[in-house]
Amino acid sequence: MLKKLIKFKNKEIRVRFAPSPTGPLHIGNARTLLFNYLFAKKYGGQIVLRIEDTDTQRSELRWIQEIIDELTWLGIEWDEGPDVGGKFGPYKQSQRLDIYKGYLEKLLQEKKAYYCFCLPEDLEAKRQDQQSRGLAPKYDGMCRDLLQKTIDQNFAKDTPSVIRFKIHEKKVKFTDLIRQEVEFDTSLMGDIIIAKTLNEPLYNFAVVVDDFLMHISHVVRGEDHISNTPRQILLQEALGFDKVIYAHLPLLLNPDKSKMSKRAGDVAVSDYHKNGYLSEALINFMALLGWNPGTDKDIFTLSQLVKEFSIEKVQKSGAVFNLQKLDYLNGYYIREKSPSSLTKLCLPYLAEFNAQQYSPKTLEKIIEAYKARLKKLSDIKDLTDFFFVEKLQYDKKILAWKEMGDREVKASLDHSAKTLSVAKKFDKKSLEELLVAEAQKFNSKNRGYLLWPLRVALSGKEASASPFEIAEILGREKTLQRISDAMSKLS
Ligand code: GLU
Repeated sequence: MLKKLIKFKNKEIRVRFAPSPTGPLHIGNARTLLFNYLFAKKYGGQIVLRIEDTDTQRSELRWIQEIIDELTWLGIEWDEGPDVGGKFGPYKQSQRLDIYKGYLEKLLQEKKAYYCFCLPEDLEAKRQDQQSRGLAPKYDGMCRDLLQKTIDQNFAKDTPSVIRFKIHEKKVKFTDLIRQEVEFDTSLMGDIIIAKTLNEPLYNFAVVVDDFLMHISHVVRGEDHISNTPRQILLQEALGFDKVIYAHLPLLLNPDKSKMSKRAGDVAVSDYHKNGYLSEALINFMALLGWNPGTDKDIFTLSQLVKEFSIEKVQKSGAVFNLQKLDYLNGYYIREKSPSSLTKLCLPYLAEFNAQQYSPKTLEKIIEAYKARLKKLSDIKDLTDFFFVEKLQYDKKILAWKEMGDREVKASLDHSAKTLSVAKKFDKKSLEELLVAEAQKFNSKNRGYLLWPLRVALSGKEASASPFEIAEILGREKTLQRISDAMSKLS
């Protein structure tokens, strides 16, 4: 059955990305766009980017640009859109107002839509009355059958109006690729507003016109839109448009299973991007928000997803947004990077330091020393800042291993300084051999008595890479300088 709907009447498969540029690209919307992309690529279809900017008050050009930039960063491509053109443009709804106007006039002429002059305060009073009687609020159809004379008089008086679409009481059924058979009872809806004026169509109306004129075969979108679907189907019927096949993706949930709201934490793709999540990790993470291959495999690149994705495997139940999973995937993709490409990716996060004081090879060593600890690229700054600053700031207390007092710490650092000042070779491996042997001599109970104060003197941190790696990177001169700085902190 579903297979038949995917290859529906052998029509060409065409999907659309339909973001509203009223804010940054939200991760939930990016997931919708990714699933559209996977669906289209899997079945050899075309993708249209359509900017839904009929809400002129809230839409902004900068958000259109951000949406395009972030999708490009993610590697999600489209075949037609405002930036690349195409046969069915323009692809910004704000440039299609004449088209919508023609269809609004058609519905008005055919008496399938009508002007409504009800005052907002009267509608509000009626809504409250309905609610107080335990009824679901809906428009009572006051202006449904106004005489032409009354309409003309209202216009002559400039009475504010909207355009409503007549919703006939019936059951609207459709087969959803994810939710299967869905049925809505339209008697609960009341006549909906489809435009503020002939030049100001609203979402449901513009979408229906565009989906038809852009030859969209499948609408893949979030479940938050499912209640719009019966309204859009009725509009398609009234306008004599072809049917569209729907797939409603599961809602995103917080780990406690509550509905994820746009306000909860970092939710813009650009936030993840800025904080140092890799596009590979975000793609992989978003694909698993509602889809899984039915096996334990959880690492997928975009091209593997295109091969393995199937809409039949998308779940109905809500998809839990688990940031730990994203961190795990990000760590995985970070560790997959070559030293030179990871260094390139990390450098912007070290912009406030003079990274050029090190050669490209040494910078790679710094990044490699911390690769295993990076959850996101931005972590690199706090982990490696001590390589770049002249004077380290830290509390002298952390120089002590266990119960060591100042005098013992000083003796330990002095021992390290003497050893390192005459070390023949200053590479990590040789330093490790040398210092481990010296540590044994210094205190046979535990090598920490020598190596801990040394490591803290070089890094200024309780946790860091090994003193051997750090000393190699700093070089003999800086290493000895830092040990002497540490000793001067002690009494
Ligand atoms: N513009 C709508 C949104 O950003 C999507 C509309 C649709 O997919 O039908 O939520």
